[in-house]
Amino acid sequence: MGNMREFTCPSCPTTLEIESNYVGTVECPNCNSQIHLLMGQQTNGPLFHLALLFIGIFFPFLLFGILYNLGVSIESSCGLVCFASIGIVVYGFATKKGSLAGGVIGGLAAGGVTVMMLFIVALIAALLFMGVILPALWGATCGTIPSG
Ligand SMILES: [Zn+2]
Repeated sequence: MGNMREFTCPSCPTTLEIESNYVGTVECPNCNSQIHLLMGQQTNGPLFHLALLFIGIFFPFLLFGILYNLGVSIESSCGLVCFASIGIVVYGFATKKGSLAGGVIGGLAAGGVTVMMLFIVALIAALLFMGVILPALWGATCGTIPSG
């Protein structure tokens, strides 16, 4: 897939053939130096891992947003996001993109926390409704004892 492009190892004169939009780490067969590539562009290690981490974190939210906008129900979207995220985590570890896997786990955790927060807010709102509003309504409609 994609166009191949020639790439000179930064540490030795070896020419490597790499996919033009490759994301990942390649090892030079001659000097064994690790070359980090983002969309075929050479980056330094920390930037590369940071970029993968951010891609990982935003992946669950992005996928959820796309599914939700396509009209998929929230329950189905959550299920699909979890399923796809597990796939990305496995892929990340399998292709030695640990930062990508870590990012997805972080993103899922953040998403989970967000869902939990919404759930807690909804629960508090429900308790408030039952504890305050219902008795108030009850009092307003049925609480007046007919006198006389
Ligand atoms: Zn080399």
